[in-house]
Amino acid sequence: MSAVQQKKPIVIAGPCSVESREQVIETCCRLAACGCVDMIRGGVWKPRTYPSCFQGVSDIGLEWLAEARKETGLPFGVEVANAHHVEVALRAGADMVWLGARTTGNPFSVQEVADALKGTAVIVLVKNGPMPDAELWTGAVERMLAAGINTDRLMLIHRGFMQSGAVGYRNPPVWHVALEMRRRFPQLRMLCDPSHMCGNRTGLAATAQKAIDLSYDGLFVESHCNPDAAWSDAAQQVTPERLSEILHGLKWRRKESDTPAYMREMERLRLEIDQIDLQLFGLLSRRMGIAEEIGRIKRDNDVTIFQLSRWEEIVDNMIGRAEELGLSEGFVRMILDAVHMESIAHQNKVMND
Ligand code: PEP
Ligand code: MN
Repeated sequence: MSAVQQKKPIVIAGPCSVESREQVIETCCRLAACGCVDMIRGGVWKPRTYPSCFQGVSDIGLEWLAEARKETGLPFGVEVANAHHVEVALRAGADMVWLGARTTGNPFSVQEVADALKGTAVIVLVKNGPMPDAELWTGAVERMLAAGINTDRLMLIHRGFMQSGAVGYRNPPVWHVALEMRRRFPQLRMLCDPSHMCGNRTGLAATAQKAIDLSYDGLFVESHCNPDAAWSDAAQQVTPERLSEILHGLKWRRKESDTPAYMREMERLRLEIDQIDLQLFGLLSRRMGIAEEIGRIKRDNDVTIFQLSRWEEIVDNMIGRAEELGLSEGFVRMILDAVHMESIAHQNKVMND
């Protein structure tokens, strides 16, 4: 048995919206009966795009959530977007509050929530903002930390990012942004919200597994006693029993292993990767040196830096080899774009020497 302990993944589940006392109690009791949920989620103030949509049942919903906690023993949390929400949630005894994507995107609201949370002991979850970068998300975390929410009760939720024309996802995940947040805040646990990423039921399991393989600490997922009849986000909600099936089908991997064979193999492969990275950057540096030489020749002959046909030839040539190299076309394009930009910068540098 390895001495590296596997931390138990956190599962937070519940309806998108709290709709009625019966719906909350039934959903929560069925979730509790499945035995694989640590906490209940439910929205009572819903940030809907259109005013004609169901806006949430408001304060009364918290009483139903508190009653569900009494019935099931499961703690509960609710989305908050302003100081009033925080006060009502705390008065109802909420164990957790979360900031939704739209709130994280608005520093005024984040600050208002942070101020209202000062001196409290609730768990706080911060979803990523709408834009696919780490900045607004980081700002929201900094405001929470400054309000005294310490890192053992502050967590992050990656729920995907808004993107027009997204295929296959409602809010496509941008994994590297979430991983960047992990780098910036290594003490914070990171959950994945596959429901708002997918916007459908069929992608939930694969998306959750992807997050787990990237060593996420748990899931934040929507579940409803009668998903088809849900008043919001019907298409992405699953019954508690279906959720349980999905959860049982997931493979939670260990974050580390200390068996000698694993450590030896990893050490060997990581050394190889380090060496390849060194070679890669050494080659890139040589390539830039040649770009500077070309820049000097162009300068001496009064020729412009950018020559479209030459660039197209380079791109076509490498894209043509992508498959043979086992690389995706998108990746090859992205690398070439970055190399090209750096190359132009180097040529520019010598142009006016
Ligand atoms: C929610 O979790 O119900 C919600 C509104 O999510 P998001 O902020 O991710 O859109
Ligand atoms: Mn929802």
